[in-house]
Amino acid sequence: MASSISSSALRLLGRAGRLRRSGEPYFALSPISASSSSSSSLSTTTAPLVEKEKEKEKEVGASLRSGGTALTLSTNGWRVLDALGVADELRAKFLRIHGLVMRSEDGKELRSFRFEDEAPGQELRAVERRVLVETLAGRLPPNTISFSSRLRSIAWQGKDGILLELDDGRQVLAKIVIGCDGVNSPIAKWMGFSEPKYAGHSAFRGLGQYPEGQQYESKVNYFYGRGLRAGFVPASPTKVYWFICFNSQSRGPWIADPSALKKEALDLVQTWPQELLDIIHNTPDDAIVKNPFVDRWLWPGLSPSPVAAASNGGGSAVAVVAGDAWHPMTPTSARARAAL
Ligand SMILES: Cc1cc2nc3c(=O)[nH]c(=O)nc-3n(C[C@H](O)[C@H](O)[C@H](O)COP(=O)(O)OP(=O)(O)OC[C@H]3O[C@@H](n4cnc5c(N)ncnc54)[C@H](O)[C@@H]3O)c2cc1C
Repeated sequence: MASSISSSALRLLGRAGRLRRSGEPYFALSPISASSSSSSSLSTTTAPLVEKEKEKEKEVGASLRSGGTALTLSTNGWRVLDALGVADELRAKFLRIHGLVMRSEDGKELRSFRFEDEAPGQELRAVERRVLVETLAGRLPPNTISFSSRLRSIAWQGKDGILLELDDGRQVLAKIVIGCDGVNSPIAKWMGFSEPKYAGHSAFRGLGQYPEGQQYESKVNYFYGRGLRAGFVPASPTKVYWFICFNSQSRGPWIADPSALKKEALDLVQTWPQELLDIIHNTPDDAIVKNPFVDRWLWPGLSPSPVAAASNGGGSAVAVVAGDAWHPMTPTSARARAAL
């Protein structure tokens, strides 16, 4: 599940930096996540015209998200984290991965290589999402994030800018809105993007925990079956990230019981190599998640622009979508281009 954060992230960072320097008021929705990290760095100057709230970023959750287990970040992702000034803090916590092994479901090796030989300079690490989010949030001035702030509606507001209404009735008028609100982004919908579609496969992910230390080599381990692939990557000295991607005609029912999730994951790979099963067994029930993959194709000239602007008598207002809000995609179509 290796992937990289796109270099468009760097361009967005540059653009955002210019916005910030220009002193325009702007509003970033839900920035604290892997891919929306750039907007975290941007911080915000929330338009204070309706709400006299400054330097706030809106997040629907009541606290920083701690779920999602881990994600693999490769060279471009680390470039973005370097630009944000948090990469070294994270490098110190997560292991550098040196190679990749592909095996069939019965454990037979199909191919293996070292990055040094095949992709010199490649930097790959599995990073715990909770730590990533906390690290990014830690760089923001205190009380920058406004939790429990679900966006309910958004509308152009003539010459004044863009009016955002939150679930609790608060209103914010902004000159610039940056929507980093994920695959179900209400801002993307407002800008004319269609709903993302279920792509026909889903994934289990988990973090195996080894308080006494894990013994796995620093390699990505893939296992391939029919309509099913799995893998694991050592994340830190005590945690191993694993995943199972499987074809399924429908998203299936929402499963709230974490032990049922674990059983479902184990059932999929019950005859697969023992080391994979051991890691899943070593995963606390609440460290397993299941997600459907969704996708939305963007067609040049046909899809809406990720930037919408309105000029008016007194100036202009701009809305931008970034990350999954703009282009949700499956792991096979490259991920975290998302990243900003
Ligand atoms: C199974 C799976 C595995 C993946 N593995 C990797 C990987 O290994 N490497 C990688 O680089 N990428 C991976 N990805 C992709 C990566 O997770 C996403 O690209 C990335 O998280 C997108 O970040 P984002 O900030 O755009 O959106 P999100 O991370 O979804 O963040 C959106 C934020 O907006 C908030 N929000 C939503 N609606 C509202 C609202 N109405 N009001 C206020 N706030 C709101 C949410 O609470 C959330 O905090 C994976 C994805 C999946 C599904």
